[in-house]
Amino acid sequence: KVKESGKNEVLFFNTEMQQSLMERIRIENCLREAIENNELSLVFQPQYDAHSHGLRGFETLLRWNSAELGAVSPAKFIPIAEETGIIVNLGEWVLQKAMERFRDVHRTCAVKPILSVNISVVQFMEPSFVPMIQRILEQTGFDARYLEVEVTESVCICSMEQVLTALHQLKAMGIRIALDDFGTGYASLSYLQKLPIDTLKIDKVFIDSIIQERESHLMVGSIISLAHHLGIDVVAEGVETNKQLDYLQSRGCNYIQGFLWGKPLAGSQLEELLSKQPERVAG
Ligand code: C2E
Ligand code: MG
Ligand code: MG
Ligand code: MG
Repeated sequence: KVKESGKNEVLFFNTEMQQSLMERIRIENCLREAIENNELSLVFQPQYDAHSHGLRGFETLLRWNSAELGAVSPAKFIPIAEETGIIVNLGEWVLQKAMERFRDVHRTCAVKPILSVNISVVQFMEPSFVPMIQRILEQTGFDARYLEVEVTESVCICSMEQVLTALHQLKAMGIRIALDDFGTGYASLSYLQKLPIDTLKIDKVFIDSIIQERESHLMVGSIISLAHHLGIDVVAEGVETNKQLDYLQSRGCNYIQGFLWGKPLAGSQLEELLSKQPERVAG
């Protein structure tokens, strides 16, 4: 139902759908200007060897502090960025900033942490994606062998031929491929064999329930051994308790990412963690 206001504006009744549509449009409009307005930043969550506790690398996570909307969670704005195509620019910005930052880290730190970056399927399927990565690698001087791109199972609904071509091009450049959020989406186990994956990230929903639920417990154990048979490393996401850690260690899970050992870090916190790593010998 529509009603006329005094100024000839058309007003809609505030249904829930209407409100959520308005919110999306507001987020979309603000998001379009987020880069220009300097509202975006990156945080980096450490990943550790599950047994030695040695630093493996960091996952890059995007943060948006909007002047108009306040802090907006990526779970909210990434899907909108994907639907509107804004993700293509956002994703490029993330890659550029993260590689600039970690090029400098690699110059000063003896251990060279891996830099993982989330790639949306929308961004990944752009024909310009692989050349864009190549250009940023050249521009920043970041060593491709330390770059890991995280794609989700949703690539599996796209043309397999196109996906495989892009993945093999990335591999040929020396880049690692991680399959993110494993177990939540479309992929069947057979994709582990079809795609040239180096790393499998088991989603937090499974890690959350390994202690309480026998099924997830069995599933996580089986996924780890299947991955290992295929020569794929496993990162467990969202590890929050020592019980979860114990179980993952007992099943030979390679790496741990979670609040138990490290939250996403920015600025001085990241500096502090890196300063505890050995220094690079100058020259
Ligand atoms: P993701 O790639 O699976 O990233 C892991 C998410 O789990 C992050 O949430 C991280 O903060 C959170 N997390 C890690 N360990 C724990 C834990 O122990 N407990 C809890 N409660 N959470 C934990 P975040 O940063 O909110 O990001 C959510 C999602 O947004 C990401 O899931 C990813 O899909 C997307 N995202 C974030 N940054 C980017 C980006 O730069 N590009 C794209 N395309 N997507 C991004
Ligand atoms: Mg990820
Ligand atoms: Mg994930
Ligand atoms: Mg996730």
